[in-house]
This record gives sequence, C-alpha cells and structure tokens, in this order.
Amino acid sequence: MKRVLVTMLGMVGAAVFGTAATANEVNIYTYRESKLVQPLFEAFTKETGIKVNSISASSGLEQRIKTEGANSPADVLLTADISRLEDAVQSGITQPLNSKAVDETVPAQYRDPEGHWAAVALRARVVYASKERVKQSAISYEELADPKWKGKICIRSGQHMYNNALFAAMLAKHGEAKTEEWLKGLKANLAQKPSGGDREVARDIAAGKCDIGLGNTYYWALMNDVEADRKPWADATKVILPRFEGGGTHVNLSGVALMRHSPNKANAMRFLEWMVGPQAQQMHADLTYEYPTRAGVPINKTIAGYGEIKGDTTPLAQIASNRKKAAALVDKVGFDN
Ligand code: FE
Repeated sequence: MKRVLVTMLGMVGAAVFGTAATANEVNIYTYRESKLVQPLFEAFTKETGIKVNSISASSGLEQRIKTEGANSPADVLLTADISRLEDAVQSGITQPLNSKAVDETVPAQYRDPEGHWAAVALRARVVYASKERVKQSAISYEELADPKWKGKICIRSGQHMYNNALFAAMLAKHGEAKTEEWLKGLKANLAQKPSGGDREVARDIAAGKCDIGLGNTYYWALMNDVEADRKPWADATKVILPRFEGGGTHVNLSGVALMRHSPNKANAMRFLEWMVGPQAQQMHADLTYEYPTRAGVPINKTIAGYGEIKGDTTPLAQIASNRKKAAALVDKVGFDN
C-alpha cells in the first residue's frame, strides 16, 4: 500500500537489527494518520524522555506483527475501531494490559474484559440529515427502516467496519431475526447503492440525492471546522444523535493494545497510561474530534454542539462478538448490491 510509511527512521533500525535492551524507546504501530498522532508522541517524549518510533499503515499491521513473531519490535498498537483491536486479539499478538490507571479511567464497557484493549477516545455513529428537508430533531436507529424514508437514505458499504459495528450492536439489542428485518428495511430505503465514505453521505445530502444518512461524529466536525472545501456539505446538514429504542447512541472507539512480545514493556505501559491522562486526553480529543474517555476532560465545541450524548451501554466486547454474524446478514440481504 502506498500509505504504508515509516515515519521515523529509528523504526527501521529496530526492525532490522533488533531492539537494544538499553534504548529508552517505545515502538508504536498505528492505523491512525501520522498528523493526528505525531503531536501526541512528541508530547509524550517531552514529558518522559522516552523516544517514540512509529509505523503508520492503512492495513495489514496485525499480519505484520504476527509474522515478526517473538522478534517483533512492536510494543503498542494504536488504532481506531473495535474491529481492528479484536482482529489483533484474535491474531494472538496482544497481552493483557493489567493497568490500574487504565481500569480506573476508562469505563468498563469500553475495555476488553480480559484486558487486551482499552479505549483512548470515543466516536459515535450518528445521523446526518438535510437541514432543509428533515424537520425532526430526534431519531432512533430502528426508525431508519421505516418506509417513510423510502428512497431517502445514503450510506457507505454495509461491510465497512463502522457499519459492521453498528449492525453488530443492533444484533446485541434485538437478535438475528429482527436485525435481518431491519437491514432489509434499511436497504429498501436507500436512495442509491452503498458507496463512498461518511463525508460523501453529507455531500450527497447537500446535492439532494438523499435526505439522511449515517456518519461518524468527527467527520461532520472536520468538514465544518477544518475542511473548507467541504464546508458546504456541513452547512447543508445537521447532526442528530440517534438512539436505540430503550437505549443510547452507538459508540465505537479509538484504542490501544499491548503487544504480546513487547520488547519495551515498561515504556509501553507508561505510554498507555499517559494516553488516558488529562493532557493526552485533551490533546487527543482536540486532534481527532473524538470524545475523551476520561471524565472531566472538555469535549470539542463542535462535537458538544450535537447535544448531550447518552452512549448505549452494550459493552463493546459484546458488540465485537457479533461482528461475523452482522457481516453475514449484510451479505444475506444483499445490502451492498
Ligand atoms: Fe474514520
């Protein structure tokens, strides 16, 4: 992949020659964009004196770490989305964090019960709606299958990890039969074949191709606050925080895992615990437009403007256990066809 890049030359040395036991460093493999995480790494180094070597990639990190085996220089995996963390656990490349600081800071529903991963930030899967054509200001996920939305919904692929997690959450809430019905209803309401990403949902609403769609909380904020060329897409839409009937809003995470053969484990633990500390939580939330996991850290103004979020209480680990079933249902109903 073209986006695979070595962001610091130090990593090359570590990978080729093995890690010197005396080096005061930590090796972080990440799916996050370099510009989002470099400021965090720099702040960590400034505070602790521990050098951060990082590898950024858009895919294949679990496989790479697995292949490196016992000689892997990887200490930490830092990534968005529960599916990535669960893939890492299932690849056998993680170990429990065993951190009191993490356990005390991150609510239990956003941590692996066995301790293999923990959230460092949160994002919600929400509704983008036409300001002009959608009058309602509250909605349930279940309602997206209501025929009143026929031909009015835009969405990215049902197999994309963001939708997969939402559908897996629907399975945890309602079981297989009801979720299949719901998926059929949602598909019947689509204005077009699932395509693009979350930003393109706002683009297509702005263009009048659909009235509502699903997107993550941070994309709308980025379009509104940062991406001038996409500001018109934000201007044409509003964010509604949907809820499950009798529940809350579907929340996913950005999180961390400690690698099984971590050669710099003490430094890795320091990094993991630093990431849930007040400074990193504030920085992270500001850089990525996510919700902090640590109580008392202020939420970005644009994100807070969506309204007060009530996260659904289904544990992410339980949602993750339904991932395969959700993917199979998407295929079964021909969601992407
Ligand atoms: Fe994203």
